[in-house]
Order: sequence, then C-alpha cells, then structure tokens
Amino acid sequence: MGKLIIGIDVGGTKVAGGLVTQKGRLIESQIVPTHADKGFRKSYAQITNLIGRLLSAAGGADNVKGIGICAPGPLNPKTGVILNPPNLPGWRNIELARMVTREFGLPSRVENDANAAGLAEVLFGAAVGYKDVFYVTVSTGIGTGIIINRKIYHGKNGIAGEGGHVSIDYHSPYRCGCGTLGCIEALAAGPGMARRARVMLEQEHGLSSVLRDLVGGHAEQITPLMIQEAAHDGDRVAKAVLDDTGFYLGVWLAGMITLFDPEAIVIGGGVSRIGKPLFDKIRETIPGHTINGFATETPILPAKLHTNVGIYGAASVFLPAGEEAGT
Ligand SMILES: [Zn+2]
Repeated sequence: MGKLIIGIDVGGTKVAGGLVTQKGRLIESQIVPTHADKGFRKSYAQITNLIGRLLSAAGGADNVKGIGICAPGPLNPKTGVILNPPNLPGWRNIELARMVTREFGLPSRVENDANAAGLAEVLFGAAVGYKDVFYVTVSTGIGTGIIINRKIYHGKNGIAGEGGHVSIDYHSPYRCGCGTLGCIEALAAGPGMARRARVMLEQEHGLSSVLRDLVGGHAEQITPLMIQEAAHDGDRVAKAVLDDTGFYLGVWLAGMITLFDPEAIVIGGGVSRIGKPLFDKIRETIPGHTINGFATETPILPAKLHTNVGIYGAASVFLPAGEEAGT
C-alpha cells in the first residue's frame, strides 16, 4: 500500500540508511560514523538516531512497513541475532532485530550484507528477470549470496552462502582469516591480489614494474587499485596478477556452477570494478573446470548497485519477493 521501507547498512566504519519505496526507489539517504571502536552501545545509538531521522523523513511510523538491517556476518537472520562480526568489536550475541522492534514498534529484520546485496541485485539490479542467482562481492574479503526463486537461501542455521570460505587449494601456503588454507577469499580478494604482486616483485628483483616505482620499493604498500591502474597501462606484473585472480575466481565459480547451475552469476564489490580484463579471464576459465556443459551460457554479470547497495539490500528483505528472507 505504498508504504516505505527503512534500509540500514551497518559497516565497520559507517552506517548508511535510507528510505526505499516498494518499487525499489531510494528517496532519502544519510550516513553516520559507526564508532565501532567505542563499543556496541555507541554504535547502537548511532543506528537508532539514524532510524529516528529516517522515520521523521518518512512522515512517521505509519508510513513505514519495516526496518531492514544488513551487517557483516556471522549473524542469524532467522533470529535477528548478530553473533560476533570481526569488523564490529564488542558486538557479541546482540539481539538487534528484537531491540530495534522494541524501540520503534515496527517489524525489523537482520540480514547478512552479501545475502542482502544479492537479493537487491535480483530485485532491481543486474539480475532483474532472473530467479536463481549466485551473487559474489569481491573487495577486502569475498562474500556470497545464494538466491533461489528470488529469495535468500539461509540453510538450517541461517549461515548458508559463505562461499568465500570454500577452499580451492588446500596446499596453498596462505591461511584465510577463517583458519582454513586456500579459501578463495585468501587467494582472490584485494589483500590476496596485493600479496601476489608483492611476492612476485620480491622473488624477482630484476623484474621491472611500475608498481615497484609507485611504492618506492616498499612492496607492502601495493594496493588493488594500483594493480588495476598499472595493468591498464600495460604493466606485465600487474597484468599477471589480474590474470591469476581471474583464473582463481573462474575455477571457483566453475565449482559453483557445477553445484548450483544458476541462471546467472552477479559479481560486485571494489575488485569487480576492474571490469573487462578480470571478467574476460573468469569467463575464459569457467568452461574447462566444470562438468556443466551449459556453463558458457551462464551470464557473468557485473553488479549494477554500487554506492547504496547495502541500503537497497537491507530494504529488500521487506519487499514482496524477499519477504520470507527474515523472521
Ligand atoms: Zn576462509
């Protein structure tokens, strides 16, 4: 009935919030610092102040259908409890959905940020028109969301879709933050890319690269953005790093296609902004690493929602196709 949805995106450094219409139009957005280092109470005050301002902008609670909140995992969307996210120190077993519902008298749901972003891409982003989609966000980590019949698949305990922690190389020397060796996150997210460039430069001192010059010999200062720009300018080391990253992502996504046979794969996040060189390598790699004979037909789509994807995602759990996503 034309009611608005409040979407709140809680990150390690900032909380973004907005008002989203039932047709997926963002009509108001605001950002405040999370103050995560000051503990849960301070962060929670930031969140509730923001919700209060958005309620005023909406003209009162009567005009709002619900409050969707997305946050880094691990969390349980079924119970609305934030467990112990590494990016939010001091948040331990927080019954966030219940607290927000009690405070504002409106239904509230909590969702994993990658799941929420995946649902938003299906409802009004890159994957409009598809029902069964595997979503990936590649930035400082790799988050994934499994969308089946335009709804988030949560699994028994609410923690399905942690695809970034599927290992594709258990003999890799690189241990992931989760404790396992060779997770795709450890191999292909931003820090993994930077590390690969650093290792190449350290192992071959004679190798000339604009990356070496950019950081004045301090290879530990190399960033994914530098790699992207250097590759664009034809730097051999940077191009090799992008090639490796695309290969690893391709091998991993081939496995996901073998498992899910999705209608489409959407790739978002900062690393995905590298664009064509990365996507080309992923598309080239997939067919040789899956038994799915139709894999070449699986669209590998760049995400469409960027800046406000968290707000859209959080609001999505109250949109009709996502309704059963939360409790
Ligand atoms: Zn891992």
